Amino acid sequence: MAAAKAKKKAAAPAPKKAAPSPPKKKAAPSKAEKLDVFRRLAEYHADAHCELDHKNAFELLCATVLSAQSTDVAVNKLTPSLFARYPDAKSMAAAKPEDIEALISRIGMYRQKTKSLLALSQGIVENHGGEVPRTLAELTKLRGVGRKTANVVLGVAFGTPEGVVVDTHVQRISQRLGWTKNQEPPEIEQDLCALLPRTEWDHASHVLIFHGRRVCGAIKPNCEECPVNDACPCAFRAEQVGRKPGRARA
Ligand code: SF4
Repeated sequence: MAAAKAKKKAAAPAPKKAAPSPPKKKAAPSKAEKLDVFRRLAEYHADAHCELDHKNAFELLCATVLSAQSTDVAVNKLTPSLFARYPDAKSMAAAKPEDIEALISRIGMYRQKTKSLLALSQGIVENHGGEVPRTLAELTKLRGVGRKTANVVLGVAFGTPEGVVVDTHVQRISQRLGWTKNQEPPEIEQDLCALLPRTEWDHASHVLIFHGRRVCGAIKPNCEECPVNDACPCAFRAEQVGRKPGRARA
């Protein structure tokens, strides 16, 4: 009996640790909260600017056309030799296609882009006296120039954007921050134009592009280091938000 009493009681199993619960989904931000997040992002990316090298509106227009499906870094590597040979619309309009192709062949869709550079230069010479037009309506009549390219030129070269440039970064960050529920660039642009004062339309796209390139990447957003992770509805669960479906990414 005494021996039995002396026997140590078996230790009770430690209670199971509860699995960590995923971060709670934040409520949709108010307009004032969205603008505060934008202000903080603009402070964080105080150096945000257009990263396509250019000296004038014509160079910027050509560089933006070349940047479709390519990186700014790749475009900046080939534009110095392109613009040294064809510094303006008049000289580019008279170029032989094969000569332009030889200068830009290191980027994707170079044959298509050569056609666009030639045609937009010819349009500028024939209809605008060799000067890049200054309105969205006129710019988008040039071959290869869509709304996004036109607004890059209007915002960066002339300071008169007629909308917000919605590229893949702007699209993804706007969705993650809860600034839009839309999926397509035209509707997202409308939401951003309604949210932001016109004076910020050009600046905002550069801020969001910098944030997308440096912090909030498509595959691995760095929410740990993000300056607005306290206010972002997608913080720490953003990987699948704002990404294009697999087929579209391929
Ligand atoms: S918290 Fe994360 S998902 Fe939200 S903006 Fe920052 S990096 Fe992107």
